[in-house]
Amino acid sequence: VVSAAPPRFDTAAEALHTVFGYDAFRGEQAEIIAQVAGGGDAVVLMPTGGGKSLCYQIPALLREGTGVVVSPLIALMHDQVDALVRNGVRAAYLNSSQQPAERAQVERAYLAGELDLLYVAPERLNSESTKRFLEGGRIALFAIDEAHCVAQWGHDFRPDYLALSELAERWPDVPRIALTATATEATHREITSRLSLDGARHFVSSFDRPNIQYRIAPKLEVRRQLLDFVRSEGTDASGTPVSGIVYALSRASTEKIAAHLSANGVNALPYHAGLDAALRRSTQERFLREDGVVIVATIAFGMGIDKPDVRFVAHVDLPKSVEGYYQETGRAGRDGAPATAWLAYGLQDVVQQRRMIDESPGDLAHRRRLSQHLDAMLALCETVQCRRQNLLAYFGEASEPCGNCDTCLEPPAAWDGTVPAQKLMSTIVRLQRERRQKFGAGHLIDILRGKETPRVRQYGHDALATWGIGADLSEQQWRGVVRQLLAQGLLATHGEYGTLTVTDAASEVLSGARNVMLRTEPERVARSRGPRAA
Ligand code: ADP
Ligand code: ZN
Repeated sequence: VVSAAPPRFDTAAEALHTVFGYDAFRGEQAEIIAQVAGGGDAVVLMPTGGGKSLCYQIPALLREGTGVVVSPLIALMHDQVDALVRNGVRAAYLNSSQQPAERAQVERAYLAGELDLLYVAPERLNSESTKRFLEGGRIALFAIDEAHCVAQWGHDFRPDYLALSELAERWPDVPRIALTATATEATHREITSRLSLDGARHFVSSFDRPNIQYRIAPKLEVRRQLLDFVRSEGTDASGTPVSGIVYALSRASTEKIAAHLSANGVNALPYHAGLDAALRRSTQERFLREDGVVIVATIAFGMGIDKPDVRFVAHVDLPKSVEGYYQETGRAGRDGAPATAWLAYGLQDVVQQRRMIDESPGDLAHRRRLSQHLDAMLALCETVQCRRQNLLAYFGEASEPCGNCDTCLEPPAAWDGTVPAQKLMSTIVRLQRERRQKFGAGHLIDILRGKETPRVRQYGHDALATWGIGADLSEQQWRGVVRQLLAQGLLATHGEYGTLTVTDAASEVLSGARNVMLRTEPERVARSRGPRAA
C-alpha cells in the first residue's frame, strides 16, 4: 500500500480562504478547479496574471496524493514553493540545483505521503528512474505549466516537453492540466495533441489586458526617447516614482542604458545573466520592495517575478515574436491599474534579426518559423489599425478598436509611398540585373539622395539613372520607407550587411498595379549620428 497525502480541504472555497487568503475566485478558476479536482483533464489558456497557479494548487489540496507540477524555470519553482510553504502547504521541488541530501529528503517525503505539491523540472520527468520513483507514491494530478513549450512551431519549444506525452499512458487515471499564457490557435492544437489531451475541457480566457496601453514608436535616438518616456510615465498621481522594466537585447546595452538613466536621475539598475548571483538577487529584491526602481534587463528578467504594480514595460529592441512581446508586456499592470507598454524599433532591428535568423543553427523549417514570428511582430509594429486588435487577432480573438493604444488615440496619417517605393525598388533591381551588385539600405539611400560618398564614386553609382531622384525625402524618411516595405513583405534583407532585394510581391508595385500606403512618421530634428542609426 502506498502512502498518499490525504486531502487537506473539503471545498475549493475553503482552500482559497484558508491557504491563500482570497475572498472569491477570478474568471474561470472555480470551473477549472472543479474539472481537475473531479478527475478530469483541462487545457487552460489564460493571460499572465490571470491566476493560473491556483488552478492546479487547489485541486492538489482537494485530492488524495501529491500534485506533480512540471515547470521549466528553476527560479519560478523556488519562488512558488517558498510562497506555498509560507502559506502552510507542504510543497517541495526536485531539480538540478539541489544537493543529493536535499533531494533524498524530498523523495522520502513524497513516498511517505507528506507532500501536497511536488515541482519537477521537465528533464527529470524524462528519466525512467524519476518515473519509477513517482510510481512509488500516489499522484493527485499532473500540472504542465508553460505548456506552449511542447509546441514545435511555437516560440519557446523545449524538447524535454515532448516526453510528457508519456504521462497519459503511464498514469491513465491521473488528471492532467496543461496551462499557458501564450498560445495561438496552432499552438493550442499542438498542446492538445502532443499531450494527448483530446478528452480535456478547454478553458480559454480573453487575452486582453485592457489596462495596458500599447505604444510603438520608430527608433530615432533611442536613449533620449527612452528617457522622455520614463520621465513622462515615471511618477504616479501622488508624485511617487513608479516601477518599470526596460528590455534590451544584449547584456552590454542593458548596462549602458541603465547608466544613462541613472545619470539622468532615474533609479535604474541593470539585470542580466552575466551578473553574479548575489547581485542579481539583491537587484530583484530592491525591485520588489522599493518604489520607483527601473530594471534594465535582458529577457531573462521577469519570469516568475510576481510584482503586481509594474507601471511600464519598455522595449528598446524589437522582440523576436508577438508571443514574446505579449509575455513581456504582460508583466506590466498585473494589479489592473493603468500601465504602459512602449516599444521603439528601427530598420537596424530588422536587419539584425534577419541576420540572426540567417545565421541560426537548425534546419530550414526552423529558420522559416523564426522568420514568420518576426514578420508577425513587424506587422504589429507597422499596422495603422488598433494595436490591441492586431495583437488579439494574433491569438485568435476578434475585437473592436480599443481606444487605449497609440493608433486609436492618435490615428496615424498615411501617405501614398508608391513613387518612392518604385524609385528604391528599381534601383535595387537595376544594380542586381545590370551589375550583379547588392547593397544595404544605407548605400541605396545615398544613391537615391544623390550623396557623393567614396563608395558611390568607387562604384560609379552617380551614373545610375536613379542617382539623386529621391532627394525630396530625408535620410530618416527613407529609412522609414525601407523599414515599412520590409514589414509589408515587399523587400527582403540578407546576411551580415543587410543587403536588400525585392520580393515577388514587389513586381506589382513596380508595374504600377498596386499602391503602397505608408505610415507618416514624426520628423525629429536630426542630431549627429552614424548612418546606421535608424
Ligand atoms: P499567472 O500564473 O496566471 O500569471 P498567478 O497564478 O501568478 O498568475 O496569479 C497572479 C496574481 O493573482 C498572484 O499574485 C495571485 O496570488 C493572484 N490571484 C490569483 N487568484 C486570485 C484570486 N482568486 N483572488 C485574488 N488574487 C488572486
Ligand atoms: Zn487601440
